[in-house]
Amino acid sequence: MMQLRISICFLFSLVLFGCHDATSDHAKSPLTIEHKKPAQNHSQPLLLNPDLLDVQLCNAEIQIELRYTTAANFLGEILYTKIKKAYLQKDVAERLAKVQDQLKQRHPGYKLLIYDALRPVDVQQKMWDALDTLAFSERVKFVSNPKNLSLHNMGAAIDLTIIDAEGKPLDMGADFDDIRKIAYPTHESAFLRSGELTAKQYANRSLLRNVMKSQGFRQLPTEWWHFNACSREEAKKNYTVFYTENDIFVNRF
Ligand SMILES: [Zn+2]
Repeated sequence: MMQLRISICFLFSLVLFGCHDATSDHAKSPLTIEHKKPAQNHSQPLLLNPDLLDVQLCNAEIQIELRYTTAANFLGEILYTKIKKAYLQKDVAERLAKVQDQLKQRHPGYKLLIYDALRPVDVQQKMWDALDTLAFSERVKFVSNPKNLSLHNMGAAIDLTIIDAEGKPLDMGADFDDIRKIAYPTHESAFLRSGELTAKQYANRSLLRNVMKSQGFRQLPTEWWHFNACSREEAKKNYTVFYTENDIFVNRF
């Protein structure tokens, strides 16, 4: 069954991206005076890099709300123009698909909601630059130094939460991209004792952590929503780095 799903994932990964303008030349009359325009590269069909998968094609129950495709993020601007889906390395996407299965078994109706997956290095750089008012030691807790790369740059990290059967995100006691200490998994027990996190919020975070752990994902100590698929060294050894959005797609011809 899993074998079949992996094969289906691979087939879907070959689907075309960015096709448009396909009909523009169809109705051309021979008498039409042509105002010739230079060939437009952006109309070329694009394929996803074969290392990557759209995670929703691996498990259609996983939901996405990519915060950097809109201005609803800590920078207040749209950071992705071509990325419309949550792309991950193939094996990482397949592990996340199993996490969704595990979550459904424990809580029927609950689904993973992805805020960010593959993030090119140039976007990472933009985020890094935007946080230049923070002390270096604080800055690296929130955004990986682009010089050292982030696992997001290789499609091996995911920012995500859980939604309930009504599609409402579970209360985690802090929002995605909240840089305050209340978002730190390492401080959860202390915040629970002080009452700043409720037992329910603590349980919701534990659920996310436990289902992700079941497939070997590692939570960042400073962000309840961020999980790495492996160590930085393993990722650098095994995976391609994506520097810009253009690197994510390859021309078909
Ligand atoms: Zn992240």
